[in-house]
Amino acid sequence: MIVINPSHKCPSPQAAIEAPIWCAYIAELCDADSILDAEADGLTLEETADIVGNEDCIIVSMGANPSASSTPKAGVALKLAELIPNASVAGLHFHNMPSVESLVSVTPAWRLLDLSKYRAHNWHCLDGRDRSGYGVIYSSFGCPFKCDYCNIHTLYSGITYRRPLDVLNEIDYLVARGVKNLKFCDELFTVNKDHVNEICDRLSYRNYDLNIWGYAKTGTVNPEMLKNMKRAGFNWLCYGFESGSDEILRGVGKKQTMKRMFEAVEMTREAGINIIGNFIFGLPDDDMKTMYATKRLSKQLGCEWVNYYCAMAYPGSKLYEDTPKEDLPDTWEGYDQYSPNAKPLPTKYLTSQEVLEFRDKAFNSFYSNAGYLQMIERKFGQQAVGHIKEMMQWSVRGTPSLASSLS
Ligand code: SF4
Repeated sequence: MIVINPSHKCPSPQAAIEAPIWCAYIAELCDADSILDAEADGLTLEETADIVGNEDCIIVSMGANPSASSTPKAGVALKLAELIPNASVAGLHFHNMPSVESLVSVTPAWRLLDLSKYRAHNWHCLDGRDRSGYGVIYSSFGCPFKCDYCNIHTLYSGITYRRPLDVLNEIDYLVARGVKNLKFCDELFTVNKDHVNEICDRLSYRNYDLNIWGYAKTGTVNPEMLKNMKRAGFNWLCYGFESGSDEILRGVGKKQTMKRMFEAVEMTREAGINIIGNFIFGLPDDDMKTMYATKRLSKQLGCEWVNYYCAMAYPGSKLYEDTPKEDLPDTWEGYDQYSPNAKPLPTKYLTSQEVLEFRDKAFNSFYSNAGYLQMIERKFGQQAVGHIKEMMQWSVRGTPSLASSLS
């Protein structure tokens, strides 16, 4: 049995190449002989099918996270399945993923992967560290919150924790295999402070000098926890700030306020942890004024990095159920944030195209802002600015970039 990660790679040279943790979990649970990571190996669908031949295989339609990267991957998984006679497809949208009870009882089959193929995001190593030696791990599955645009509950209801000792044993193994940069894939690592503190205490004691990032939420962090995380090696935390309007946040069930965002940023900065801010343009009640407020907020918060998304009604989310069929993408690729064929949601006041253009321009404007680049240079050095300039040469969705304004 072969487990396959089909190729649906972000074309940017600055993006991470992440070890396919879902393939490793499924391989362990079905006692597979091998994992073919077609994404890391840069294989086309035809090349992948040639290698597999008539072997039994499971094509895993999961990306780095359930919403933004797993949904568009379903299209390539289905195309690949048409080319392989003995293939089945597993993934978020195919309702055949392992139960959470089975996931917490095993360790992914890392032995079947060559971990030297993987590399961290450019921002994760902005301080000039080597991007190779990138590992990923889960310490919990699921999330206790229910945001309308998120489809995590298709996979799990509530949140289930692994035993901290199991997590640490897995980190020991990954470090022995050369991992230096690590991502906690948990939807929300900071929900349970006892869980966080136990893992971080044990990690600090090991003194591995890891460069770690993970996801946090405003209202779930406190100064003591953040300092403990920093001691353990957390250098980056990603917050889903999403919108610069409390009303828009309420409208999609996101339980946070602008006040909480500024408090979380202050505490995180105080602990010496860098911030990645996620923002969404085009939520159902957004108009130009609220989208400008979101863009303004992303600058006011002073994040070291931002991800700008367009709102998408991912299948499995409440937003999907509430959206008229004609406003949904008619291909899986339409859910891809960085595809030329991306089709975000229209809002009550804006077309899909207006949202998309706003997002693309906001991206260029943020990363070409002189004040931002000076902050990056002060903090991480001139080479970090070089990384950002390189990223701008690639440009979001292949549209003309503002890279020239950087030179
Ligand atoms: S907090 Fe994050 S993971 Fe949880 S439901 Fe909201 S978007 Fe999804």
